Amino acid sequence: MIALRHVVMRLTAGGRALTILDDVTLDIPSKQFVAVVGPSGSGKSTLLGLIAGLDAPTSGTITLDGVELTGLGEDALAAVRLDKVGVVFQSFHLVPTLTALENVAVPFELAGDPDPFDRALALLDEVGLADRARHYPVQLSGGEQQRAALARACARRPPVLLADEPTGNLDTASGEQVIALLRRLHRERGSTLVLVTHDRALAASADRVITLRDGRVVGDTAAEPAR
Ligand code: ADP
Ligand code: MG
Repeated sequence: MIALRHVVMRLTAGGRALTILDDVTLDIPSKQFVAVVGPSGSGKSTLLGLIAGLDAPTSGTITLDGVELTGLGEDALAAVRLDKVGVVFQSFHLVPTLTALENVAVPFELAGDPDPFDRALALLDEVGLADRARHYPVQLSGGEQQRAALARACARRPPVLLADEPTGNLDTASGEQVIALLRRLHRERGSTLVLVTHDRALAASADRVITLRDGRVVGDTAAEPAR
């Protein structure tokens, strides 16, 4: 489903060459729930951005659902992102000038769906936000914004769902709600879920835990039972 081969990510910052990801090779099978953990700065967000096709590696290859991302042009990459990947971020990234409904309708509109708003409303209902459809992001709580962002990410039933510390800006109760929803969408829709988290108990509930340090995979194990 997701295959990374010898992926290297280098950047130059302030005249210095930085190696952000250093020879990462991974296979993530379809429908797996993978937690990605590691200290701040270890390359977790960079890894997710590469899988999402938001960034290109310096070298190595990334294949998503049979499509090799590396080497695709901008348009082809945008099409892959729309069809195959849903992403949620720590800071929600909703469009501030659009209502919750309009935000969730965007992927349907981009895909030329004839009923983008009906589809979006059904999804908002699924995440418990039907009564907030006409609200703008600023009028929503953090938990509500993240649930709307999740609805948008899942809109077109992408086979891959990526979440980068999705509860990092939320209080405990809202965070638990978002995680419950993420798990439900993963389970019911059979998508592959790659979740970056600092929450040990949450990571331990995944099928697999990948640990990054200094841009390298230093651990890759089935989750230990929570103790
Ligand atoms: P994590 O998500 O694990 O905290 P990141 O993937 O965000 O780590 O970043 C890994 C390293 O790469 C960090 O040291 C970060 O400062 C650096 N980095 C990421 N993006 C850039 C960039 N655009 N320019 C310079 N350094 C960057
Ligand atoms: Mg990060």
